Amino acid sequence: MNIWLILILVAGISLFFFYASYSMRSGVYIKTLNRNPKAGNVVALTFDDGPDPVQTLKILDILKEHDIQACFFSIGRKITGNEDIIRRMKAEGHLVGNHSFAHSNKFPLYSLKRMIADLKACGDELARITGCETSLFRPPYGVSNPTIARAVKKMKYTVIGWNIRTFDTCSGSIEKIVKRVDKKLSPGSVILLHDTMDFSDILLKSILAMLKQRCYKVISIDELFNFNF
Ligand SMILES: [Zn+2]
Repeated sequence: MNIWLILILVAGISLFFFYASYSMRSGVYIKTLNRNPKAGNVVALTFDDGPDPVQTLKILDILKEHDIQACFFSIGRKITGNEDIIRRMKAEGHLVGNHSFAHSNKFPLYSLKRMIADLKACGDELARITGCETSLFRPPYGVSNPTIARAVKKMKYTVIGWNIRTFDTCSGSIEKIVKRVDKKLSPGSVILLHDTMDFSDILLKSILAMLKQRCYKVISIDELFNFNF
């Protein structure tokens, strides 16, 4: 076989595996719910990496004001001391999901045993406060690989992805972020936000104003995917 052909094949296969691991949305290893295009002019909001004692509360205030339910993918180690925030999320009808205990960047490299222990630690924290187990999970950094897929299967999690990434944790003005979301907006979208940035509350207000202008309604994840979590 021609050496160039072999090199191109190797590069292609490597790229495929990189994409499959980098993006859980690829669906190669894990089935994720990223969007429901049949849902009409609606979107669901998801907030990762909280609870944050300042920003999460501000976001909850805004959501309450607009009578909107969202989904919060919480980090287990941030829950201690912020139990009341998790209680408030549940009391106000929001969904709370597992986003791992440590949110370590080594999470994808964990052994299956360590991964399950980490996920269980976060799940137990949430269950201790809310009184019920969450079945929702979003892997830290949105990565996927065969070990994460095995852990998800074992824990019987429903994995929630997204189709609109705001990149709110990267540099960029609020105006730029809102423009990006506006450009990518489509029926049944799931929007990825974080309740950890200094401007998360202002960004949420701006996104809600844009959604109103585009005649999009915000619904919760369970409504979007017709699930009963
Ligand atoms: Zn995260």
